[in-house]
Amino acid sequence: MERKYLKALVSGREVLKSLRALMTQDISPQERLNQIVALVADRLGMDVCSCYIMRPGDMLELCATKGLDQKAVHETFLRVGEGLVGEIALQRKSLIFEDAWNHPSFVHKPETKEKAFKSLMGVPVLRGSHLLGVLTVQTRQVESFPPETAELLETVAMLVAEMLFAHQFQSPARTLEVPTLSRRLEGVCLIDGIAVGRAVIHQRMHSTSSVAADDPQREVKKLKLALKQIGREVSRILANPRITGDQAAIFETYLMFTRDQGWIDKMVRAIESGLTAEAAVERVKEDIAARMEKISDPYIKERIHDFKDLAARLIRHLRGKSLLKKRPKLPKNTILTARSLGPAELLDYDISKIKGILLEEGSQTMHVVIVARALNIPIVSGLKDVCQIVMPGDVIALDAGAGVAYLNPSDDVSDEFLAKQQQHRRRQARYTQMKDLPAQTLDGTLMSLNINAGLTPDFSSLKNISFDGVGLYRTELPFMAAERLPDVRAQTDIYRRAILQTGGKPIVFRTLDIGSDKVLPYFQQTNEENPAMGWRSIRMTLDRRILLRGQLKAFIRASAGKELNVMFPMVTSVSEFLEAKQTFFKELERERSRGNALPKAVHVGTMLEVPALLFQLDDLLKHVDFVSVGTNDLSQFLFATDRGNPLIWNRYDSLSPAMLKTLKFITDKCRAAGVKCSVCGEMAGKPLDAIVLAALGYRSLSMNPASLGAVKAALRTVDLTDLNQFLLYHLSDETVSLRALLTSWARDHAVFI
Ligand code: PEP
Ligand code: MG
Repeated sequence: MERKYLKALVSGREVLKSLRALMTQDISPQERLNQIVALVADRLGMDVCSCYIMRPGDMLELCATKGLDQKAVHETFLRVGEGLVGEIALQRKSLIFEDAWNHPSFVHKPETKEKAFKSLMGVPVLRGSHLLGVLTVQTRQVESFPPETAELLETVAMLVAEMLFAHQFQSPARTLEVPTLSRRLEGVCLIDGIAVGRAVIHQRMHSTSSVAADDPQREVKKLKLALKQIGREVSRILANPRITGDQAAIFETYLMFTRDQGWIDKMVRAIESGLTAEAAVERVKEDIAARMEKISDPYIKERIHDFKDLAARLIRHLRGKSLLKKRPKLPKNTILTARSLGPAELLDYDISKIKGILLEEGSQTMHVVIVARALNIPIVSGLKDVCQIVMPGDVIALDAGAGVAYLNPSDDVSDEFLAKQQQHRRRQARYTQMKDLPAQTLDGTLMSLNINAGLTPDFSSLKNISFDGVGLYRTELPFMAAERLPDVRAQTDIYRRAILQTGGKPIVFRTLDIGSDKVLPYFQQTNEENPAMGWRSIRMTLDRRILLRGQLKAFIRASAGKELNVMFPMVTSVSEFLEAKQTFFKELERERSRGNALPKAVHVGTMLEVPALLFQLDDLLKHVDFVSVGTNDLSQFLFATDRGNPLIWNRYDSLSPAMLKTLKFITDKCRAAGVKCSVCGEMAGKPLDAIVLAALGYRSLSMNPASLGAVKAALRTVDLTDLNQFLLYHLSDETVSLRALLTSWARDHAVFI
């Protein structure tokens, strides 16, 4: 090993040791940041070390410096992209400017008095994909900065990122003393509701939570052991004769990476510089991925994804499964702010603390939205750069119905907000008053209103509402919330509890609908280009028959002596339904032959959500006891629009003539065949859509419990005969949606929507 490298390594480790000591001291965040920059400047022999922190509006604020004028702290701001520091933030990568002063992007900030400095190196302060700031060093002499210094600065940046991130959960106040920014953010309402709370920025869990380590040898050992274990796991998978073709190629690539000496050496070097094993994997990962990106060979390019996946697995392995699930503690009233969010990620949090969600991306029928709706958490989406604009600890007043979030609201806004909150409460009170009244329309049609459920909180809130049954029990939700795959006994308990909590009302149990955006953290994921149209739902459970059989067995056991309704999701052909139905009856037979108690009646039905099934309805209706229309997936496939893609989420509407004709076609067919037909997609929970469904002939709707009041209020004020006539007249209009027309009609006819 070169002497210079060894020296840098030792000093790097010492710096990290001192930094770690600093992290444990009971001092303010500002003081800690001051000491960090002083320490880095001293130990690395730099004339300047400064830390800039991201502020709302894409601004970087000088928050601590050793070497520049102290008066510039909290006074100097640079936009992202402005000057050399802004360039580092924009590119999100480490940059060196040997002749900084003469660089075309250089911007002089006189208050910093930085005229005397020649060279500058800066690294982004990143946590996961989130840019928190920039850390820089500067020198009086022209300096090219050795790679070891760059690496050390990157490590320090990781620690600073951890410090800034950790602090957001400890104190409701801002991380550092800066004036707060009041702002009105406008997006799209995904779930109506009003909430006030403190912002917490959601971070993907793969980012490292502990960065520096004392004992490099132990960390190297940990790394090598984890690589060996993953290698063994992968070899075992490869030995399975069913793993062939593309799948085998992926695992072979994994195996190749676990043995790649170049990668391993780089990680060991990172550990020797003072990092923990997982932080070393994270650090080296981006670096290698960036290099692979530059290689023109398409084969190598394609492997980047595999490589990143393996690195993520390695980090998970190093942290252990329990750590993987551990989320930071949330303040009591949390407004979770995220670029995007998966349903399992949401359920990892203590959901009782989450009062609202702000998203950059997300649409009405994404599963995370469905889960949040079940939990009555308002969401505003389509908020561009919200994770950059909102700072941890900011006060947020959320008026989701208006699609607005007020950031650190002024007194005037707070007053206005209070009035809205009262109005919202009045509406809720009106719904509560109607609780025991029937869902009967003005023309005397009685509707059956049911709930969609799956999570424990769904059931605990049932005392305050009236409903006819559970029209859709999404069994994947308890699976998603569990640490590991629940066995038959655990499932039986879950379903039995659901039956008990619904007080004998009918429940429709839907078999597992996993895949697409509903992933189980412990379940091996497949790499599919189009998971929503891939190996999901009934397609997967028919292939993994053990899973399906176990679930059917649990349904049967939980329903002993009671009525059992089983429904299959994503059925595409009659034969698929028959195969699933046969599996159910075989399981029932097995239970009978074992002498186990059986349900007193069974009904087997299907979701209607794949358009191909519509053209097999005549045949299908001979074999089913009931059908339930899943309008979320049905419209996704009918319009060929990804339900989670914000670019197209509002392009097609459920109240379009095409969708309404489809829905009418289904209910007409079912009525003629005498088969019960309901709607359990999100459409059923929107007051205007719900009255339209009723006018088309649907008599049973299933929705999130939170929507029941509003839907009942709309139904009780509508005359379906009038609406039906109006609808039939407009069903062939050449328009993309009848929503505006129907809204006017409802207002003119005093329908409470
Ligand atoms: C649907 O697709 O409409 C539906 C109810 O199922 P999920 O939203 O769970 O896919
Ligand atoms: Mg569906």
